[in-house]
Amino acid sequence: MNILKFFEKLFPKPDMSTNLIKVYYQCQRCKNVFELILRKSYDIQSTYGETPDYAFLYQKELRDPKCFNTIRVKIFFDQHYNILKHEIQGGKLITPEQYAELRENVSQ
Ligand SMILES: [Zn+2]
Repeated sequence: MNILKFFEKLFPKPDMSTNLIKVYYQCQRCKNVFELILRKSYDIQSTYGETPDYAFLYQKELRDPKCFNTIRVKIFFDQHYNILKHEIQGGKLITPEQYAELRENVSQ
């Protein structure tokens, strides 16, 4: 263990996970699975109460680095960052359990 790693273990960096939302999705074309890490303050837009249906919106075009499929993601959150609904073209959202399982299958 090098000295830097040793100190990182002693003094772990502040936990930023409260600012992060993890979402998992699968590419429709090649069935690859991906982890998408969203930063609340940076990636997710507030709707400032303009819409009664949701409080935050994440939308992005993602490119599968393996098969170059374009996956259009739109995820709607309530004010507690719970996913209310989502619209995805070219792929689908999966659960963390599915992600863990499918990733093992793909890597073998
Ligand atoms: Zn793909």
